[in-house]
Amino acid sequence: MRVGGEIVYVAVGANLGDREATFASVIRSLDREADLLVLAASPVFETAPVGPLGQGAYLNAALELRSWLAPLDLLRRLQQIEGRLGRDRSPDAPRWGPRTIDLDLLFYGDRCIDLPDLVVPHPRAHERAFVMRPMAELAPGFRHPVMGIPIVEIARGRPDVDDVQLWPRPPGWPGNRKEGGVSGGGG
Ligand code: AMP
Repeated sequence: MRVGGEIVYVAVGANLGDREATFASVIRSLDREADLLVLAASPVFETAPVGPLGQGAYLNAALELRSWLAPLDLLRRLQQIEGRLGRDRSPDAPRWGPRTIDLDLLFYGDRCIDLPDLVVPHPRAHERAFVMRPMAELAPGFRHPVMGIPIVEIARGRPDVDDVQLWPRPPGWPGNRKEGGVSGGGG
């Protein structure tokens, strides 16, 4: 088994098109990456949309990966996957508008990164029940590197945590994966 790398957490969200198919495509895309290994996936949740545009509900989840990519390279790779799955990044796309896919880098080990294009821990992750609820299933004891509080406690403190509803596992979304045990992936 390949050694090294870092444990990273990525948030997955979609509220346009065939959301379940998009989630399955995210896993297939990550499985094709030589420098990323999907270790575990949270259950999938459905969340009412935030923002002014009368959008549809989101599916949300979180993934635990082992990454041998540096943080900015990982961000670029996630953005490439978003692009392939139809994310509109044109300048006139609305900032909080509907999206086929949104991949956010939440945590990169316990590193704190503050670059123009990348802030880690993701600065709004702890405020979002739709991020904290899946993260609490995936890595309850993981301590937020800035706040020093376990994720499960942050999730419990979110007043809107009950707005995030468990959704049946989409076809192609992993149950639980363990280190080195990537199941049935696309190679
Ligand atoms: P969004 O449209 O919400 O996906 O935001 C994407 C923008 O946020 C991009 O310009 C990224 O460079 C920037 N960004 C900063 N920090 C992060 C992060 N931790 N994860 C994803 N995007 C980030």
